[in-house]
Amino acid sequence: MKGIIDLHTHALASGHAYSTVKENIEYAKINGLKYYGLSDHGINMPGGPHLFYFQNLKVIPREVNGVRVLKGMEANIIDYDGSIDVDIEKGLDYLIASLHTVCLDPGTKEENTRATLNAMDHELVKIIGHPDDGRYPLDYEAIVKKAKEKNILLEVNNSSLNSDSFRPNARENYKKLLSLCKEYKVRIILGSDAHICYQVGIFDNAQKLLEELDFPNELVINYHEDEIIEFFQL
Ligand SMILES: [Zn+2]
Ligand SMILES: [Zn+2]
Repeated sequence: MKGIIDLHTHALASGHAYSTVKENIEYAKINGLKYYGLSDHGINMPGGPHLFYFQNLKVIPREVNGVRVLKGMEANIIDYDGSIDVDIEKGLDYLIASLHTVCLDPGTKEENTRATLNAMDHELVKIIGHPDDGRYPLDYEAIVKKAKEKNILLEVNNSSLNSDSFRPNARENYKKLLSLCKEYKVRIILGSDAHICYQVGIFDNAQKLLEELDFPNELVINYHEDEIIEFFQL
């Protein structure tokens, strides 16, 4: 099936990404997306955007060349209580909450899990980014159950599944996570985690894995426009 939404993409402002917002949207169109989300790193990321960058997202049009544009942020989880580095939400359509080693040292499984579960209580967090990172062991059963309770999407991150990814054991971790998602009927979202325009909307690694695991298409929100509209209130 064809994924029509990609909400995990980075532009120049992230500090270690290489395309403009305009280029990303162009490639969203070229790669067949109907919905494009800009999710630059939160302000605690070294080299990342200043708070003003997020406060001014209103200048980006809601629609460009038939592509609906959503404005988000990949917020950093910054402590084991699950605090994130955002104190403005006005104008943001969604947050991805993620663990990054430059913003929080990996803790014990209990600490990492607590951080992630608490981040899910933030009202604008709609997605947990790359929950596959072997450097942050997580209690997947607890994460999946909370995602169900709070109606939050767990990401399958295409970049984590690249052979040169710096997040170890992503494949093995996704096998565990996805089998629980299947069991508890928890939805996932495919995210490219693009750091250059050409990757926007590319989910090849993730889709290959889902196919191998016989993961049900009905739990992949990227394939269902009606669910996308409802979930993001578009
Ligand atoms: Zn990045
Ligand atoms: Zn990330």
